[in-house]
Amino acid sequence: MKEDLANARQFMELAVEEARKGMHAGKGGPFGAVVVKGGKVISIASNEVLSSSDPTAHAEIVAIRRAGTMLKTYDLTGCVLYTTGEPCPMCFSAIVWANIQEVYYGAPMEEADTLGFRDSKIAGYFRGEECCLTMTRVENAALKELYEEYRTTGKTIY
Ligand SMILES: [Zn+2]
Repeated sequence: MKEDLANARQFMELAVEEARKGMHAGKGGPFGAVVVKGGKVISIASNEVLSSSDPTAHAEIVAIRRAGTMLKTYDLTGCVLYTTGEPCPMCFSAIVWANIQEVYYGAPMEEADTLGFRDSKIAGYFRGEECCLTMTRVENAALKELYEEYRTTGKTIY
């Protein structure tokens, strides 16, 4: 069920405030995210790329990691994510991996691009556009064996 928009605006304000605090504290870019479940805030985060020396420490990723820790699960089914900026492809994927199915965002990624971020360029890669790296497949029989070992162990797919 969709959260009503009045609640969405409140959670978005929390995300914006966290983004502002993080930005002024030198943690990273002007981005914040909040994970909510059943109307209750589970986690809140700002971008921490600079303070943690971690290029993957986008606000959404940090908020998802904290929510997983709080709820003691990798499966965030039923959680709602509020984020100040449209999720970049990395964060979009993390949201899918976390089974979060409802996202509210503030600024579209094109606005982040106006600040110098590369979100749209990365997204373009998935539409077949040129990007900033090369990817080359290296076939390896040992990997096929590894996958087969995994298939036969019947482990949880994650
Ligand atoms: Zn991101």
